[in-house]
Amino acid sequence: MSRIDRLPIRDELRGKSPYGAPQLDVPVRLNTNENPYPLPEPLVRRIAERVTEAARELNRYPDRDAVELRTELARYLTRTGGHEVATDQVWAANGSNEVIQQLLQTFGGPGRTALGFEPSYSMHGLISRGTGTGWISGPRNDDFTIDVEAATRTIAEQRPDVVFICSPNNPTGTAVGEATVLALYEAAQAARADGAGALVVVDEAYGEFSHRPSLLPLIEGRPNLVVSRTMSKAFGAAGLRLGYLAADPAVVDAVQLVRLPYHLSSVTQATALAALEHTDTLLKYVQQLKAERDRLVTELRAAGCQVVDSDANFVQFGLFEDAHATWQAILDHGVLVRDNGVPGWLRVTAGTPAENDAFLDAVRAVLKESK
Ligand code: PMP
Repeated sequence: MSRIDRLPIRDELRGKSPYGAPQLDVPVRLNTNENPYPLPEPLVRRIAERVTEAARELNRYPDRDAVELRTELARYLTRTGGHEVATDQVWAANGSNEVIQQLLQTFGGPGRTALGFEPSYSMHGLISRGTGTGWISGPRNDDFTIDVEAATRTIAEQRPDVVFICSPNNPTGTAVGEATVLALYEAAQAARADGAGALVVVDEAYGEFSHRPSLLPLIEGRPNLVVSRTMSKAFGAAGLRLGYLAADPAVVDAVQLVRLPYHLSSVTQATALAALEHTDTLLKYVQQLKAERDRLVTELRAAGCQVVDSDANFVQFGLFEDAHATWQAILDHGVLVRDNGVPGWLRVTAGTPAENDAFLDAVRAVLKESK
């Protein structure tokens, strides 16, 4: 019996483990889809300046509505997402995990359900559980694309309150096409006899790495469609904890009902604003990572692995009889990748060219040893 079990915790949390990839001290860490490039020095200095300014007013609470930050995020989305977005259509929180939590607190909750197509980002299910929202696991094809017919049937039968569409999908890297999102959105609205419809959340945490344009323009005229984004990946700022969403202004009003007052510290807002001043430089790193991602796909295939087409900054590769044993064997060569529990498959994050070379050498060595 763990010491937690002696506590009067909620029944659905009993026997569960917290989410988290191992944080091991190994030479090459390619397991959490981080950006391998540290922030450039001029940006580090600009953050120091803006945080210094913020520090002079730390006796005051931060801007509760984070208006300047939301305005800059809206400008970034307008510039890169193929759709004009206004400040009142953007909301920000401490990582897109918190954005998702606020959405589930607002649109899910006890007596309600959320649906996702698995394998996908496991936090969608875990945050659902944490907010008392029932979780429904929807199907995917063997190649990890979404089977529109099976998906719309599941939505019609289960009538979820929230539907997650992760594009590009973690851990498989699979992008979802516009037509699929539209079909699922229509199904999710039609399934609800109460006429209120269901919320559809497109999780675009890896959107900037995709070969395809963002799904952002689909929010136009669809009041129940939300696109969530993060500065953890493309902006190389996982330590900052800044996620955001774009949607109809009514969705932004609705999440105010559950957000904690002053949830985004002045230091967070100042740091994110500094990073947004350097968007162009940061997006150049994204271009390099996309090229490295494509190289990983090509070279893993050449080495004899099966590889799922990837639109993200990571690649799912296999097929291994015992994926966990292969994970360990790659680790024994000094490279940490991720075993997401998808039978036969492992996931590697695109790192620097040198890190990717080390990873590819490790995989080739492991494949040779297993012959
Ligand atoms: N969505 C997806 C699909 C992710 O993979 C992640 C991070 N692993 C997140 C959301 C959350 O990211 P963050 O909270 O750092 O913004």
